[in-house]
Amino acid sequence: VKQAGRNGVAFFDPEMEAAIRQRHQLQRDLAHAIEAGELRLYLQPQVDVRGRVVGAEALVRWQRADGTLVPPGAFIPLAEETGLILPLGDWVLQQATQLLRQWQGDAALAALRLSVNVSARQFRDPGFGERVQQALAQQGVAPGRLELEITESVFLEDLDHARATLQALDALGVSLALDDFGTGYSSLAYLAELPFDTIKIDQRFVARLGQHSRQDEAIITTIIALGRKLRMQVLAEGVETEQQENYLLSHGCHLLQGFRYGRPMPLEQFEALVHAQPRD
Ligand code: C2E
Ligand code: CA
Ligand code: CA
Ligand code: CA
Repeated sequence: VKQAGRNGVAFFDPEMEAAIRQRHQLQRDLAHAIEAGELRLYLQPQVDVRGRVVGAEALVRWQRADGTLVPPGAFIPLAEETGLILPLGDWVLQQATQLLRQWQGDAALAALRLSVNVSARQFRDPGFGERVQQALAQQGVAPGRLELEITESVFLEDLDHARATLQALDALGVSLALDDFGTGYSSLAYLAELPFDTIKIDQRFVARLGQHSRQDEAIITTIIALGRKLRMQVLAEGVETEQQENYLLSHGCHLLQGFRYGRPMPLEQFEALVHAQPRD
């Protein structure tokens, strides 16, 4: 926050100035990283009630020239503020659809669904639906193999516009997931009318399972029941313990994701994991 100086000129304290300079540096580095191919997609497995891997969430990592891996929390918010999320999001979409094409040649991988995160800014961009369609068509990938994870924040500004975009994406045949469910501004009334295929229970609720919190258990069981009633797939994120798994499965959760089944990992490692599981 700026402070007005005596004659109305804004000044910054040195610490703040350093922080701003660092931000600008990060912004330049990130713009360069996208062009220089320093971004990587890590994959985190999603499993069904039998523990079989049925899909993956793609999570971006920034591998800097010195080899250090920057987590998305350190650059996605900045990318959203600066608009760099648009080229970054396009890159993710290109990578994901290319990967789905590669997987078509492998029986075990061809059945998987791949989820990508779409930020609100990307979702609101007028050309978004078209770019999704083009990326799929270019790679010759069945749209249903791709899932777009969208958070409730897209409904904040203009619900009518968001609804229209979702319906257009649904008509393309891509799968739609509502990410971080339970933390935002969802109203039950619109959840019921929007074409989501999957709801993802936010990991905050899952993390508190097993601490005998009646409230968190009530929220989770209610979300699962709601999703099932609406004929959506319910996926719980952040599953780490057997106890959490048991609770979720006994209450009808369809899909699970979390460190218990694998951390986000490089592609080769993910593919090896899938190949190691017994065939049906
Ligand atoms: P998210 O979409 O909610 O992703 C799930 C986050 O939870 C990931 O963090 C994942 O590593 C972490 N996680 C998964 N299982 C567990 C678990 O069992 N325990 C705990 N404690 N954590 C778990 P990550 O990879 O650091 O990503 C953070 C956020 O960055 C994501 O949250 C997503 O909002 C954003 N993000 C990541 N990749 C992209 C991207 O390609 N595009 C956009 N727009 N956002 C992205
Ligand atoms: Ca997500
Ligand atoms: Ca659908
Ligand atoms: Ca999430």
